[in-house]
Amino acid sequence: MSGNPYLPSRRRFLQWGIAAAASLSYSAVMPAGAFAAQKDWRQAILDRDRWLSLERGKTGEKAVFLYYRYGKGFDPRGYDIACHLLRDVTSGVTYRMDARLIDLLYIIQVWLRLKKLPYHIIINSGYRTPEYNAKLAKSVKKSQHVLGRAADIRIPGLSVEDLNRLARAVGVGGVGIYPGDGFVHVDVAGVRTWKG
Ligand SMILES: [Zn+2]
Repeated sequence: MSGNPYLPSRRRFLQWGIAAAASLSYSAVMPAGAFAAQKDWRQAILDRDRWLSLERGKTGEKAVFLYYRYGKGFDPRGYDIACHLLRDVTSGVTYRMDARLIDLLYIIQVWLRLKKLPYHIIINSGYRTPEYNAKLAKSVKKSQHVLGRAADIRIPGLSVEDLNRLARAVGVGGVGIYPGDGFVHVDVAGVRTWKG
């Protein structure tokens, strides 16, 4: 997918990152609890064009794409790229992912960039068909993966503990840490935390 001529260049993404860092630097250094009196920091991150850089672990597919245009809404092409990267690669099924999950990955990525930490998100698992999900030893029947609301992610250069801490700080959904498997589960089905 990186050869797609419609995808924005990496350079443009980096320029955007620098602009975001400059405008958000005040919020970024504040402790989470102090945000209450300010504009919500997650909303501040969302109030702009939303770019995401994702890689699918199993296939090696990568894309840097715009999926939301500020003031206009979701970009169908970018949204489709996200759904493609989050598809059930074992079953070969693409699903219309919950847009809030895509936003969650985006918020995590922007936060890491602002903190000058590794931010390359690799997706271990996104959507799962009920059939495929049932075959997985550790999965639960009511998995949010089956509903297109969850992703298992890892970031090279960032420990699962740090990624877990960040995902919890974002505070918009479920966060499960799987240290033995080296990934963190994030979903948009209500705030819960657990260790796998
Ligand atoms: Zn999961």
